[in-house]
This record gives sequence, C-alpha cells and structure tokens, in this order.
Amino acid sequence: MTVTSHDAPRSAQLFDRASSVIPGGVNSPVRAFGSVGGTPRFIASAKGSTLTDVDGKDYVDLVCSWGPMILGHAHPAVVEAVRSAALGGLSFGAPTEGEIELAELIVDRTSVEQVRLVNSGTEATMSAVRLARGFSGRTKIVKFAGCYHGHVDALLAEAGSGLATFALPTSPGVTGAQSSDTIVLPYNDLAAVEQVFAANPGEIACVITEAAAGNMGAVAPLPGFNEGLRRLCTEHGALLVMDEVMTGFRVSRSGWYGVDGVAGDLTTFGKVMSGGLPAAAFGGRADVMGHLAPAGPVYQAGTLSGNPVAVAAGLASLKAADQDVYDALERNAATLGRLLGDALHAAGVRHQVQFAGTMVSVFFADRPVTNYAEAKASDTWRYPAFFHTLLSRGVYAPPSAFEAWFVSAALDDAAFDRIAEAAPAAAAAAA
Ligand code: PLP
Repeated sequence: MTVTSHDAPRSAQLFDRASSVIPGGVNSPVRAFGSVGGTPRFIASAKGSTLTDVDGKDYVDLVCSWGPMILGHAHPAVVEAVRSAALGGLSFGAPTEGEIELAELIVDRTSVEQVRLVNSGTEATMSAVRLARGFSGRTKIVKFAGCYHGHVDALLAEAGSGLATFALPTSPGVTGAQSSDTIVLPYNDLAAVEQVFAANPGEIACVITEAAAGNMGAVAPLPGFNEGLRRLCTEHGALLVMDEVMTGFRVSRSGWYGVDGVAGDLTTFGKVMSGGLPAAAFGGRADVMGHLAPAGPVYQAGTLSGNPVAVAAGLASLKAADQDVYDALERNAATLGRLLGDALHAAGVRHQVQFAGTMVSVFFADRPVTNYAEAKASDTWRYPAFFHTLLSRGVYAPPSAFEAWFVSAALDDAAFDRIAEAAPAAAAAAA
C-alpha cells in the first residue's frame, strides 16, 4: 500500500523540520514509522483515550505512551498532583517525603523489600544488573531473545522493541567486551536455561527476563517458565531479575507478580509507576539492595532521581488506579482482542490475538507465538497495511508488528465504536 502524508500535512512539515536537528526526526526510534512507512503523527494534545495531532485529527490511543497511561491522558487527579508539586519546587537534590511514600507503596504491592528510584526503565535494568554482579561477584548474565530491557549495552543483544522493528541483532557501539558476558537464550525454553547453568557453574550473576514479554509483541510466559527460572536461579546461586517495567502496575495492581506470584530477587519498574513522567525504580531483597551505595559498595546515583514532580505523578496515578480501573483494563483488553480477532477472522487472515495479562498483540500466524523466532516468522509484512488502515480511520495502534497494544481504562463506547468500524477495513487491507 502506498503511504502518503496528505492527511497529515502539518505532521509532515514538522517531521521534515525535526529530521534536520533530531536524528531520524524522533527522540526514540519506535516513534518513527520505520517499519510501517509514512509520517509519524506529531501530537498536539491528549485527553482520556483520545490523541489529537497537529492537523487536528483525533485518534483512539492504543499505545498509551508505550504503556504508562492506564488512566488515560490528562487524568484530573494526576494533573492536579503535578501542578501542586511543581508549585512547591521542581527539584531539590535532597530527599523528600513523597519518595518514601512511593517506595512504601511499591514495597506494599510487590515482592520487593527495598526500592530505589531512578529516571528510566533503562537505568533501572542497568542498575539491577550491576547490583546483581556486585552482590554475587559473578560476571555472566542470561537474557532472552526478543526481551527488551532498555538500551543498556549488555542487554541489547537480540532485544525486541525497536531493535526488532528495525531488524537489528544488536547495536554498533556495543563492544565485544560489553556483550561477551551476555548469554542470549530463547524465551520460554527452560531446558536451554538448565543447560547454560550446567555449562557455566558458579559464573552466572543473574537471569533477567520480562515478567511477561511485551517487546516482541505480547507473549506470556508458558505455564511453569517463570517458576522454573526461579527454581534454577535459587539452585545455582544466581539472582532472578524480573523486569516489570512494562507489566508493573498495568497487568494488575501488583504487576505480573500479582498474576503468577513469582518473586524476583530484584525487580525493575517504570512506565505506569510514574504516571507519564520520567521516573522508574528497581528493588528487591533487602540483603541485596543493602549492597548499594551509600550503605554498600555498588555505586548508583542520579541528579533527578526521585524528582518530586515525577513522584507526585506516580503516586497520584497509582492511587487513582483502584479495582474499577483494573477491571476496566481487563474488559477493554478483551474487547479490543475480540474486535480485532473477529475482523481478521471474517477477512480470512490467519492470525493470533495474544494476551499477556492486559497487553494485547496481533500476530499474523497459524499458531500461538511463544518466542522471538516465532514472532519473526509470522507474516509481519501484513502489518503496515493493517496499521495504516486503522490510522486513517482514527485508531492509533503501535507502529510496529513487534509491539504490544496498550489499553487504558478511559476507552469508552465511542472509542470501541470507532475501533469496531475501522477493524474490518484494516483486516481486509491485511488480507
Ligand atoms: N524494560 C522493559 C520491559 C521495557 O519495556 C522498557 C521500555 O519499553 C524498558 C525496560 C526501558 O525503559 P525506558 O524506555 O524507560 O528506558
């Protein structure tokens, strides 16, 4: 399908202008329509489940800023919390009571005993891996193909998300030394993990996994996979790092831990926990976290860590997300999946609608996708036409076949009517 920018002239202008001063015109690669083609929409504002672009066109938002916006955009309680925090000062570089409250809330809802606030999910996973190495005195780490843990040098190998979108096995600039201690295994393959532990006795510092994968599309752990990782890590004296940056406080009020109850020794959080502002966290067992400076020798720091405005946004979001919100997320994910599945079925397109909790993905495949190789083997060539037909009818899906779709609790009947209207045309375009 030919993709033109005639319905987004102002976005096209801004994209041109951006491209001369910002590499690729965007500040994070997944925002570019790299694998689907066309002009990324520049957003002027957002409210509830609606994004409005600079050309004045509205879209039902099924990206939700790549996960954080479970309440929808500009939720009044969050906006008010941000406003009132900002009036009290933007950053102090000294501790505040709000940081304790957010840490207590995270400790209360999840498996972690102590938590440190950072600024991005990348920082959280980078710090967790350093701490796992510092604590264990070991160097090797295990990650899974198709899992993305941010742009940490040692974790970029066969990462999902933008690297999957742009078909990059890793990144130039990551040296052999930085990646040589990273062992990459197929997701959902416990036997492979068992073999690697047997072949590297006493050498593996940690296994890091997305608690449920969302960065190769939504791929839930098979029954027993997370439990098996837990058992193997304990048996071999390695730490289990559960990356809940995407799942945390989205798939339940306790994240994926609330779904399967498997506790990491360390867990990372981001996205939902800061309500759309830049904050993230890593936490875990108190004896492990006690190795962090200043209590211990493993160094980690941040000028803006625990920023009062971001903390206020996070607290307000997490408090506003009551059971009604989680019920709505469940319902909305199921409805979205049903509408997409029905349309693809009617159009005769082979597909799988997959869920990882309330994260949703469409794979153009005959069988359920359980790992990255299967995700890559699906008919991803169908996705650009599917995506652009939805977009032209006012539905903003992720601009990549390898990303999860995110619902908010703000999706209402009008939003679902629009999805229901757009889905049959999108399915026909993908056929
Ligand atoms: N971990 C997971 C599971 C993620 O999905 C992401 C981002 O999408 C990250 C880590 C990195 O987070 P950030 O983009 O905030 O650095």
